[in-house]
Amino acid sequence: MILRLSVAIDGPAGAGKSTIAKLLAKDFNLMYINTGAMYRAVTLMALSTNVSSEDIDGLCDLIDKMDMYFNKDRLILNNEDVEEKITSPEISKKVSEFAALPEVRKKLVKLQQNMSKQYDVIMDGRDIGTVVLKEAPFKFFLTASPEERANRRYKELVNKGLKVEYEDILKDIINRDYLDSNRKTDPLRKAEDAIEIDTTGLNIDGVVNKISEHIKSSLVSGAK
Ligand code: C5P
Repeated sequence: MILRLSVAIDGPAGAGKSTIAKLLAKDFNLMYINTGAMYRAVTLMALSTNVSSEDIDGLCDLIDKMDMYFNKDRLILNNEDVEEKITSPEISKKVSEFAALPEVRKKLVKLQQNMSKQYDVIMDGRDIGTVVLKEAPFKFFLTASPEERANRRYKELVNKGLKVEYEDILKDIINRDYLDSNRKTDPLRKAEDAIEIDTTGLNIDGVVNKISEHIKSSLVSGAK
């Protein structure tokens, strides 16, 4: 059996998970798996083919027909780079509804676990430390105030040229936090053995260094 390195990063929307995970992936030569992108891709497919969140069989069929992989941190769905489409505010508004469905989660968790068997990975999401990579030696839980998280998303979307309102984004983030934390199946929560980092007011490099140092010292001491 090959022993694979795996790093789990969980936390609410806009806590800096993907930016930080991408940098760590480079430092440690890991494959970055953005699991939120996979839930977003299911939402995109469902909305564009008019499959509702009540049509569980329809959704399962849809997922079985989806070919998803990551190329340079971007999600390729059935041979199309869908990164721009899946990060739109429309998808952000609907994704938590589809992500709450146990059947959808079961299928995506399986795909994610298969990826972790093939590659050394850093995965970010909501249930990575608690469900997907329960045995991961390195788990981190990133948080930040809702206002700071909304501000980061706002800047990100404006930089992409989208016309968005800060208040709408804050509302969406608070709503998604609520749905993600209160759903029955695999809700957003910190794994008991995860290290929590509040990124409010911290710069990205500071957080990356903190996590990096922790991983390096554990690898050197052989503690993990
Ligand atoms: O990470 P991101 O904000 O792109 O995730 C979009 C949504 O996908 C989350 O709000 C959540 O509803 C869902 N998600 C999830 N489990 C994951 C990753 C994302 O339920 N592991």
